[in-house]
Amino acid sequence: MRTHLVPNGFDQPTPPADAAPQPPSTNPPSAGGGGGSSRGSVDCRRHKCIALTLDDGPSPQTHLILDELATLKAPATFFVVGRQTAHYAKELRRMVADGHTIGNHSWSHPWFWKLSPSAMRTELDKTDAEIRKLTGVEPHYLRPPYGNVNGAVRKAAKSRGLAIVDWSIDPQDWKDRNTKVVVKRVVAAARPGAIILSHDLYPTTRKAIGPIITQLRAKGYVFVSLDDLLGHTRPGKLYRQR
Ligand SMILES: [Zn+2]
Repeated sequence: MRTHLVPNGFDQPTPPADAAPQPPSTNPPSAGGGGGSSRGSVDCRRHKCIALTLDDGPSPQTHLILDELATLKAPATFFVVGRQTAHYAKELRRMVADGHTIGNHSWSHPWFWKLSPSAMRTELDKTDAEIRKLTGVEPHYLRPPYGNVNGAVRKAAKSRGLAIVDWSIDPQDWKDRNTKVVVKRVVAAARPGAIILSHDLYPTTRKAIGPIITQLRAKGYVFVSLDDLLGHTRPGKLYRQR
């Protein structure tokens, strides 16, 4: 299932089929992007794939993070908080244009465990609708705030076509606002197929992105979209890594 429908002529050329192995230190220019009919642009059975996710934005940091990712030609996934998106329509559209993935991170970032099922469904629907309205893209991934997953979350996600995506690497960048610490934790914890949690809020995290990508590429990792990392996903199912 593709995450991007890629509206408004933002589609980028689909990279050549992955017949020839690519140097692992290079990402194809539109990895993670495009909405072509072909499946992922990187074969994660043969490469050391890893995915970067950024939660809790959009924020005043977002355009700078997008600049950083563009310079590095690295795809990422932004799990956005719905109520913040209206002020950042330009950033959301750029995420799509630059080949990133946008996921649903609820409308107001509550603890889903504390919500009634109907309040939770409203959180999901309002955010999906806002992402669709601003970008034309239909989200296919949900990250519940705080990684809260239970039966009600699974059921609501399933009926909305959303796969639930948590993470396998948590550098605690919200707690330790220290670029070096965040870089060190992520690089030390990296494994093929990992999903890195980080936050689209802090300058310290923004500054960590370049070193994380550069250092992991030097170790042979390829940064990919969740589509490439996870391949076909099932709505309502929880994924923490490949
Ligand atoms: Zn969050």
